[in-house]
Amino acid sequence: RAAIDVRALEKHYGSYHALKDVSLTIAPGRRVVICGPSGSGKSTLIRCMNGLESFDGGELFVNGAPVHGKSRSLDLIRREVGMVFQHFNLFPHLSVLKNLMIAPIKVRGKSKAEAEILARFYLERVKLSDHADKLPSAISGGQQQRVAIARALCMEPKIMLFDEPTSALDPEMIMEVLDVMVQLAKDGMTMVCVTHEMGFARSVADEVIFMDAGRILERNAPDAFFQGP
Ligand code: ADP
Ligand code: ADP
Repeated sequence: RAAIDVRALEKHYGSYHALKDVSLTIAPGRRVVICGPSGSGKSTLIRCMNGLESFDGGELFVNGAPVHGKSRSLDLIRREVGMVFQHFNLFPHLSVLKNLMIAPIKVRGKSKAEAEILARFYLERVKLSDHADKLPSAISGGQQQRVAIARALCMEPKIMLFDEPTSALDPEMIMEVLDVMVQLAKDGMTMVCVTHEMGFARSVADEVIFMDAGRILERNAPDAFFQGP
């Protein structure tokens, strides 16, 4: 069974046709990188996969469960699909630890004690245990993004989506975030990443997808993709 199955997806923003007949099947454990010019629909596609965006045509299945256009079953998807954004979207008034605990408590009904165990476990995985009690503003952008990744992992998702996770970072902070993503890939996580980091794509992706003007133009193994025609 596919982790993500996108069939003939269509998306319009008013008169703007953002996704045109997009089909894509991603098997469990696969790492897919989506690249392409700005405005080509990458973010729209990945947001549809998380139920953040509705769609107007086609079908989308997450772990076999249908996600229907306007009446998408959000709760189900959000439990199985973690998402990391370009901007970290941490709660500025909550400590790092509390940022991690909130979704397990509110969305998964965990007790505070259970949520804290999860939070400390994933904070250790992104090597930020020493920063648990700090506010997001007191740590670097790269550290904030690692917190955002840990926060998504606290929901124990089966699939992780990344939408340009390093694009808002200073160059010297990009590697620490990519390192966390490489480790996730080694652990066997199913990953879909919109990124311009071609070194990451080359070394981690099973497959690279190139989008332009709302369509998938190429889908290939990284070696073939970077070799060109
Ligand atoms: P990419 O991630 O490849 O840069 P996006 O999926 O963000 O592309 O956007 C695709 C196109 O759809 C862009 O032209 C963008 O301006 C437009 N778009 C994205 N979101 C909206 C929205 N909420 N309303 C109107 N247009 C949008
Ligand atoms: P990011 O680069 O972090 O993905 P964007 O600037 O692409 O952020 O988009 C931020 C928000 O604005 C998204 O919710 C997106 O759907 C929306 N958006 C993007 N382009 C347009 C547009 N042309 N008109 C209206 N909303 C848009």
